[in-house]
Amino acid sequence: MAEAVTADRAARSLQQLGYRLTPQRIMILEAVLESDDHVTAEELYEQVRVQYPHISFSTVYRTMELLRDSGFVTQTDLGGGRVQYHPVGKATHHHLVCQGCGSVAEVGEEIFTGLQQELRERHNFDATLTHFAIFGRCERCR
Ligand SMILES: [Zn+2]
Ligand SMILES: [Zn+2]
Repeated sequence: MAEAVTADRAARSLQQLGYRLTPQRIMILEAVLESDDHVTAEELYEQVRVQYPHISFSTVYRTMELLRDSGFVTQTDLGGGRVQYHPVGKATHHHLVCQGCGSVAEVGEEIFTGLQQELRERHNFDATLTHFAIFGRCERCR
């Protein structure tokens, strides 16, 4: 499991990769990496806008894509246009998403331990199984 990444460390890595770090970007970094919860791009946009009213939604979205591509956050599509971000080091669980009522439950990452092992043994493949959304029906909707 990847260790938790601080906003400082992420900022330094991005700079080393040649990205310009604006105060807005730093605020987005801090908001997502220091959060223990999931955040959507919309929620981040609302947060950052309080301090930087002129920031555009696409700036927030592009920053999140950059963080995802550099491996600092996971991006999980929970269906229905809901995309959540979570710091990589804290994403030690998966989600069960009900396609009936839209409820979301968490399950521990150990649920995929067997699968991971099997992929390694049978296909010599080291799978990265981080923060999945698994779709189906909950007890009430079945
Ligand atoms: Zn999650
Ligand atoms: Zn349901």
